[in-house]
Amino acid sequence: MTGRATKIVATLGPASSNPAILEQMIRAGVNVVRLNFSHGTAQDHIDRATMVREAAARAGSVVAIMADLQGPKIRVGKFAEGKVMLVAGAKFALDAARTELGDVNAVGLDYKDLPDEVKSGDVLLLNDGLIVLTVDSVKGKAVYTTVKIGGELSNNKGINKQGGGLTAPALTAKDMDDIKTAMSFQADYIAVSFPKSGSDMDLARQLGNVAGAPFGHKPHLIAKIERAEAIPKLEEIILASDSIMVARGDLAVEVGNAAVPALQKRMITLARKHDKTVITATQMMESMITNPVPTRAEVSDVANAVLDGTDAVMLSAETAAGKYPLETVIEMANICKAAESAEDTKLDADFTGMTFQRIDHAIAMGALFTAHHLDAKAIVAMTESGSTALWMSRHRIHIPIYAVTAQVATQRKLCLYRNVQPLLMEMNNDRDTALAATESELKKRGIFQTGDVYAITGGEPMGAPGGTNMLKICRVS
Ligand code: PEP
Repeated sequence: MTGRATKIVATLGPASSNPAILEQMIRAGVNVVRLNFSHGTAQDHIDRATMVREAAARAGSVVAIMADLQGPKIRVGKFAEGKVMLVAGAKFALDAARTELGDVNAVGLDYKDLPDEVKSGDVLLLNDGLIVLTVDSVKGKAVYTTVKIGGELSNNKGINKQGGGLTAPALTAKDMDDIKTAMSFQADYIAVSFPKSGSDMDLARQLGNVAGAPFGHKPHLIAKIERAEAIPKLEEIILASDSIMVARGDLAVEVGNAAVPALQKRMITLARKHDKTVITATQMMESMITNPVPTRAEVSDVANAVLDGTDAVMLSAETAAGKYPLETVIEMANICKAAESAEDTKLDADFTGMTFQRIDHAIAMGALFTAHHLDAKAIVAMTESGSTALWMSRHRIHIPIYAVTAQVATQRKLCLYRNVQPLLMEMNNDRDTALAATESELKKRGIFQTGDVYAITGGEPMGAPGGTNMLKICRVS
């Protein structure tokens, strides 16, 4: 028990792919490890997943693994010298037919459809928006542009079109292979890059379920919201996913930096409303790639995401390639805790005005309401699928939720849920024995003391998913 409700996702890379460092990062509070499938071979990811599971076991902790798919490569080709310097006002062509390596006048394209999808006047943003080109004309397979903002452009840098409009499908052949690799080590979450619609997520779910079937595993899906086209389809994408990621890097390039903070708030609110989880990502502690302390602005950014209600905050290059991966996790955990303690947690009109049809949902909300009024020490959800814990975690309450489950896959999935501490326990089929064992385990772990009041939910008969039909208020003996 860390005493922190907001979860931390850390990306693995050269700076953290070391068993001892990773173990320390997990001890410091990493809840989900992200494997970035844009880099490395299938075997690299398999080896890293093993390292993550082993490090978590040594730390006496549990972490979920997220396999983050690369998605479509909307990129320029390679340069003869590896890079060129583009100067404002110069002419530069992006040519899908070019076979020779690039130079200061032109470069080939990994993304061959670009000439069919842009027209004169469009604005193209390269290398995360650092370089800006305006399209003068399109002739055949070549896009002729003028450099508006120059800079160094190196091999295979990404291309975005301002306002969106590039049609590349979300799931590539490589992604489909990578889903199979991720299922071979039963990755808990698959993050889909650049989805544009709910059907992109449906396809990913189908592929994940088929690839996971031989292992008896169903992955949970994260939609990375990073395309302008995803915004009008937000609700449909959320409904087709288990979780979303506010992928602020690419999103900011497509919709403009200034639009992102409001979109972040909207996405977090909408995900919670639909009983889905949400991760806020990218550049949260960027300066800690090179510095041992964050900037004040970064501290505020992380704290504001917590106050917005995010389930998790994510570290990318900070832990993958930074100089201070462990220090970054420690700082981030402290910022989350401080922000949470300032959060207003009363159950408001949204809660009291709720309606629900399902018995298990009604029990979950009843537990929350009762625990809040009794100022209980904790809520304990005995859960097979994790649903009761998810419903409870969608509301702001300072009382920690302990999700007790006999399912390892459920325990790992719950690592992402705000304010939920997952515990793996054998579950006895006799209700009273299970209740007594749960209380005694929480006492043994130092979470409960004699006299504490807590609310506990479960299902009779025990062990059936969706069967929660019981709420009991107990005093620790
Ligand atoms: C982002 O663009 O913010 C993001 C998380 O995507 P990537 O995986 O490309 O870093």
